Amino acid sequence: MEKNTKFVNFFDELGKEDVPLVGGKGANLGEMFGTKIPVPEGFVVNVNAYKNFLSTNQGIKEEISKILAETDIHNSAMLEQNTRKIRELIMSVKMPQEISDEIKKAYHKLCGQNDTFVAVRSSATAEDLAEASFAGQQDTYLNIIGEDNVVYNVQKCWASLFTGRATFYRTEQKFDHMQTYLAVVVQRMINSQVSGVMFTASPITGEDVIIIEAAYGLGEFVVGGVVTPDTYLVDKKTTNIIDKKISIQKIGLVKKDGITKQVDINEIYQNAQKLSDDKIKKLADVGKLIEQHYKAPIDIEWCEEYGKIYVVQARPITTIKKEGVEGEKVKEETDEETKANKETNEKKVLLSGFGVSMGIASGIVKIVRDTSELSVIKMGDILVTRMTTPDMVPVMKKASAIITDEGGMTCHAAIVARELGIPCIVGTKTATKELTNESTITVDGKKGLIYEGRIALEGAKKKVKKDAEEQQVQQIMIHSLLITSTEIKGNVDFKEVAEKAVEAGADGVGLLRSEHMFLEIGEHPKKLIEENRKEELVTKIMNGIRDVADVMYPRPVWYRTLDLKTDEFKALKGGENEPEEANPMIGWRGIRRSIDEVEVLKCEFEAIRRLRDDDRLTNIGVMLPMIQHPSEIRKAKELASDIGLDPDKMDFGMMVEIPAAALIIDDFIKEGISFISFGTNDLTQFTLALDRNSAHVAKLYNEHHPAVLKLIDMVIKACKENNVKTSICGQAGSDPKMVEKLIIMGIDSVSANIDAIETIRRVAARVENKLLIESARKNFMDKRINFNKE
Ligand code: PEP
Ligand code: MG
Repeated sequence: MEKNTKFVNFFDELGKEDVPLVGGKGANLGEMFGTKIPVPEGFVVNVNAYKNFLSTNQGIKEEISKILAETDIHNSAMLEQNTRKIRELIMSVKMPQEISDEIKKAYHKLCGQNDTFVAVRSSATAEDLAEASFAGQQDTYLNIIGEDNVVYNVQKCWASLFTGRATFYRTEQKFDHMQTYLAVVVQRMINSQVSGVMFTASPITGEDVIIIEAAYGLGEFVVGGVVTPDTYLVDKKTTNIIDKKISIQKIGLVKKDGITKQVDINEIYQNAQKLSDDKIKKLADVGKLIEQHYKAPIDIEWCEEYGKIYVVQARPITTIKKEGVEGEKVKEETDEETKANKETNEKKVLLSGFGVSMGIASGIVKIVRDTSELSVIKMGDILVTRMTTPDMVPVMKKASAIITDEGGMTCHAAIVARELGIPCIVGTKTATKELTNESTITVDGKKGLIYEGRIALEGAKKKVKKDAEEQQVQQIMIHSLLITSTEIKGNVDFKEVAEKAVEAGADGVGLLRSEHMFLEIGEHPKKLIEENRKEELVTKIMNGIRDVADVMYPRPVWYRTLDLKTDEFKALKGGENEPEEANPMIGWRGIRRSIDEVEVLKCEFEAIRRLRDDDRLTNIGVMLPMIQHPSEIRKAKELASDIGLDPDKMDFGMMVEIPAAALIIDDFIKEGISFISFGTNDLTQFTLALDRNSAHVAKLYNEHHPAVLKLIDMVIKACKENNVKTSICGQAGSDPKMVEKLIIMGIDSVSANIDAIETIRRVAARVENKLLIESARKNFMDKRINFNKE
């Protein structure tokens, strides 16, 4: 199709072949538009605009290249600082007038007479996406109104090409920064009166039935499980409505003048069918149209505005049949892994252990016997140690794989490695003795095997590139997440991981462990307090929390107060006087210590108060670890109130990690908590009397033990009766089989490792739909029985 303007193309001019001009998202929105799938109207500021912007502003291109050439991407402080400089540079120059004029003209054409709200979304070109990891790295801005704001936000999208993370990946993948282009989609925001989701096949059985959920207002309340939507079952062939389940909806979320607010639904509408029969059929037709176009069952997010239906997001549900709820928790093997696996079959296995973080990596063995030897680890080495400790995290980040003698699925090494996405094998018992320092090995973190030598991976890249176009269709056009009423959150400790969590569509952070933050400070917090450096401590805690809460905002982030053990405190400067405990795991840790030494806890609360009040990071909540008696909650709440943090006006909850807490959960609820989160790592350890760090008892460690499940079930029941939210942040939250059980028990949210979020979301969707369909069928069968009786 002919393109009318130099810098802007409306959706109706575009098709999927236009990726080089308008990026994947733009091209695919155009493609949908062209096939009469009702997507909100819009246009794309094409890559020529970006190219022209760079070349017109003399010197900017050279300046960017110069800054990039001087940047060591492995020095994260430098990377952050220099990329910020580039972004500021891009924002500091004026957009050429012929581009801004075209954007403004297009915006007015889109709006008609009055300015309307639009979404401004980055759309990367094919070259960008040749590697999957580039997807979704640039920014999107919602609810933008007015021509100047639109122009400004287009420029902001361009600047977002140079975030630290995107720059890091491009350098690593040897992409030329200056040959990577960005288009920007400007699309009308929809002010939905009714919204919901639709599956064009049963997500569980693949059965040819269309399932539609509908509720008044914006979709967030449906997604967040705040309201129960209507459910309609539609026969796919005839579009006859097979069944309807109408729910009462008392509140809804609406957008007025750009502001989103909760409203009460008028009583006469509460019990009414949310979408008319006619609209249900129309929507089912849209579903069929999209399914035919993409030749796969589709999961769609839709909304209705002034009687017209729009598709906001859609994605093929291709993986559903491949992996049952009972299926393995692993992600599908990538080509690189397959290739590596093939070659490893011919190699010599040196040692085995528990594979606790997937992936394959080769590197040089560096055996570390104590923290004084940590400096031997260089980028890409394999860290071999008896057991990692929190103060090893900075070097763990450099390692290409981690191997330990001790540990099981929930030990420190496993937790951090999974979070950082580094292959890891624990519980080898003898790695520090049997592996040879400076030798080259290959680690298979899925199978738990360690091989001699390096595994070549050549050849894998080609396939990745070949798949890029397909991925694009899946990732962008259809850029959507399965909708689950169970919130799927992530366990996040670092800013980089928070960014990944956002990309993975996490609904929040269900566990922000503070331990790493304190260890990065490097000095015992008590030492800082004694040296009158309290302000420094508060600032450092604030920086650590802000790093995550800012990226995640407005999604909730539950900060867990300090839970270092005495042996871990020892590693800090000033930690020499820490007491010697025979069993630090059941010793002076968590809330019991915080209450004995209130000054540190007060600093944590002070940091949160300032972030919530001054930085408006009201998404931060507090979670107390190792709670065993209600008085601990009472005391913590008093301390919080003393420094001006009102525990009753925020998420303020406790971990259930000790059987005592589960057994008398009602007493804790009476103290006033807004949520609980199962720390199944400790709960299993303490229920079964199994040291979670001992490789010798790891085979007995089992979160599915009936006693553990019984405690969990008891707590969920009690909390549900009292409107206390329930969640899980232990490792079992990343285990599909456990999540299936928890959803059936009625858990409200699950916080998983970042790499497990996608799998867990699919499991949750499947289980929820299974429950939904079972109930709809039962309802239907009951009606049929009654009908037959009549
Ligand atoms: C737990 O005990 O399950 C938990 C999440 O806490 P940690 O692993 O930090 O002890
Ligand atoms: Mg714990």
